[in-house]
Amino acid sequence: MTLWKTWPEVSSAENPFSTYLALLWEENFEFIPGLEFRLVYLVVVGDVMLISGVVIWLLSRQWFYLPGKTGLLECPFCKKRWRSNPDKGLVHCPHCRQLVHPRMVHK
Ligand SMILES: [Zn+2]
Repeated sequence: MTLWKTWPEVSSAENPFSTYLALLWEENFEFIPGLEFRLVYLVVVGDVMLISGVVIWLLSRQWFYLPGKTGLLECPFCKKRWRSNPDKGLVHCPHCRQLVHPRMVHK
């Protein structure tokens, strides 16, 4: 959007990058009639959404360790128990090495 708005000036400028940055602060556009925005607002909002999107994606992949997310699990075969993340479906039992759906044990 910002590139599209500034392209006529940027493409004919000697130094396209600095012209683009300068235009971000100078160009106004009417997103809602009567309300003027500067192009730089779009860049800021876009960056914030991009960063929050990445953070949410990382959290959803559980790459960060969240404290308090361990539970006591019980193997349906050997009945032994171990502590792990209860959200995982199929896991290898650390005692008998079988691929199991562990049972959650409530304290
Ligand atoms: Zn087991």
